[in-house]
Amino acid sequence: MLYWQLAYTSKFRLDYKKKECRCGKFVDRLGLHGLSCIKNAGRFPRHSAINSILKQLTRIGLPSVLEPVGLTRDIRRWSDGLTLNPWYRGRSLVWDATVVDTFAENHYIVSTAIPGSVATDSETDKCRKYNDLLDNYYFQPVAIETTGVYGKSTAPVLSCLAKKLVDISSDSREDQWPHQRLSLAVVRGNTASILACVQV
Ligand SMILES: [Zn+2]
Repeated sequence: MLYWQLAYTSKFRLDYKKKECRCGKFVDRLGLHGLSCIKNAGRFPRHSAINSILKQLTRIGLPSVLEPVGLTRDIRRWSDGLTLNPWYRGRSLVWDATVVDTFAENHYIVSTAIPGSVATDSETDKCRKYNDLLDNYYFQPVAIETTGVYGKSTAPVLSCLAKKLVDISSDSREDQWPHQRLSLAVVRGNTASILACVQV
């Protein structure tokens, strides 16, 4: 977060007065409402940044396309990416990425009990949603919380990607770079979401 952004949000907390968001709900003192707001300004830039990072599968010999068409007859479901070469047991990888808010009112009880549980629940929902793809594809949800925690099945896949990047490049720092890039994408999205909410 840039200095002026930090200063702005700190000032907002100090000068806090009950304020209504564009969506009609009230903004809390910490501005966290912005993270789960339905008019969340950081959602789309963050989503495309995460998918651009995942598209690095190309570097390990897995060229991919974003938002592939025709995987399912249901036009309401649109996965985020598809590898053109097989990923596991002759099946191409289909992924769908999401960022879920750790602090959202409906997640609070679960997220305070088990770290990462909100992301893991989201993975389960995604698997259910794309269940019909499992006969022909290897489906992998990529779920990250706004605090940066990965879902249970997301973490090993990203580690596998990082390890393969190290093998290809022979640069041991590649092990951390996908994680750092994803963290930055989440932080930038959070910043945009909170600022858009408190600056209304
Ligand atoms: Zn709102």
